[in-house]
Amino acid sequence: MQDQYDIVIVGAGHAGAQAAICLRQMGFAGSVALIGAEDFPPYERPPLSKDYLAGDRPFERILLRPPAFWPERDIDLQLGKRVAAVDPAAKLLTIGGGTQIGYGQLIWAAGGTPRMLDCQGSNARNVFAVRARSDVDKIIARLADTQSVAIIGGGYIGLEAAAVLRKLGKQVTLIEALDRVLSRVAGPSLSAFFEDEHRGHGVDLRTGYTVDHIETDESGHAVAVQCGNGERIAADMIIVGIGIIAQTGPLIAAGAAGGNGVDVDEFCRTSLPDVYAIGDCAAHGNPFANDRVIRLESVQNANDQAKIAASHIMGRQEPYHAVPWFWSNQYDLRLQTVGLSLDYDQELVRGDPASRSFSVIYLRGGKVIALDCVNATKDYVQGRKAIVDGIPLALDELADPTIPIKEVAHA
Ligand SMILES: Cc1cc2nc3c(=O)[nH]c(=O)nc-3n(C[C@H](O)[C@H](O)[C@H](O)COP(=O)(O)OP(=O)(O)OC[C@H]3O[C@@H](n4cnc5c(N)ncnc54)[C@H](O)[C@@H]3O)c2cc1C
Repeated sequence: MQDQYDIVIVGAGHAGAQAAICLRQMGFAGSVALIGAEDFPPYERPPLSKDYLAGDRPFERILLRPPAFWPERDIDLQLGKRVAAVDPAAKLLTIGGGTQIGYGQLIWAAGGTPRMLDCQGSNARNVFAVRARSDVDKIIARLADTQSVAIIGGGYIGLEAAAVLRKLGKQVTLIEALDRVLSRVAGPSLSAFFEDEHRGHGVDLRTGYTVDHIETDESGHAVAVQCGNGERIAADMIIVGIGIIAQTGPLIAAGAAGGNGVDVDEFCRTSLPDVYAIGDCAAHGNPFANDRVIRLESVQNANDQAKIAASHIMGRQEPYHAVPWFWSNQYDLRLQTVGLSLDYDQELVRGDPASRSFSVIYLRGGKVIALDCVNATKDYVQGRKAIVDGIPLALDELADPTIPIKEVAHA
């Protein structure tokens, strides 16, 4: 096996795989290695909390490319290998076990690992994350013996898992520490809508509940969540969805600038020479985030940053200015989000949430900065343009769902 490549990509997830694909599409003829810690070829992560968990889509159908694609494109896919150290002066990577691989240019696309609870009982065998195929396979393997599930965390992953588990007939309690679900990513109107939906579908939703510890039995299995307020929530299985920790350790240890993620510029370059970072682990100044430095955890960001890094390697200077978008499926609801609602100063509900087709529009200084569209694809498509245009619009018309967003007058 070759131990020197023109380009080494660390992390064979959405971003890493897309970077390899882009390089070949753009005509890169040098050697490329794609190194991934997981044992599986690159696959889509979003179905893990949706149709893969539900058993509606087998693993073969969530692969990003058929297995033959990688050798056909002369991409050396190396699975089950975790990069432990980076030596930016010698341009060498060390893989667990001591093997070394040299690189001409490095693309770091290592994503994140799930943040887990650190209280007593949190390591019990039936406490699971939902990040990798292996996590979800463990959940699926226990479902037949599981009647009740406690989900900790009311973000998208927790809510999606709750929807699937209700569909599978499980008793679901969802515990969220803050006073509403989705508080990190959406405004109160959307939170209230999803809370009603989940309660309507039989989820026992507890907001403002903290976890004190996980109660285990003598065999080391979790049997209940002990909440900070003294309440005990019995469960056969516990799922934790409380965010991720960016996987940047070896890069930061090598001297790359960063904190919550590796800092990158508009071409996805880190502070280390010939080292790029993309995807969930890349902290970047985003023009759609009020110019704040953020990490985006989305397929859009992974794919678009992969293109930017590949283009830059190919000698093109295309800064990262992609409009953020995201989706979530829960029950028969399709949420599509465009833009970022960070620092919004006004929230406008367009349409009637009771109709289960409506949008929440976020504005800053009178300009549309983001939309959360529930079963409202037209708003999502037309709202995107309103964000890009950045022209203040007439609010009364914007709130009127009978007027298409593209026809709303300027303010
Ligand atoms: C359950 C779930 C549902 C989601 N739903 C949506 C959705 O509906 N819409 C949406 O837009 N986004 C969704 N996301 C987010 C989206 O999947 C991520 O933003 C995207 O996968 C990020 O891609 P990435 O390549 O940066 O990281 P990842 O896909 O996490 O890939 C990183 C890879 O790097 C590997 N790795 C880590 N460290 C090392 C190392 N040192 N050496 C070698 N390999 C390493 C990891 O094992 C992993 O395979 C979801 C995520 C999850 C987990």
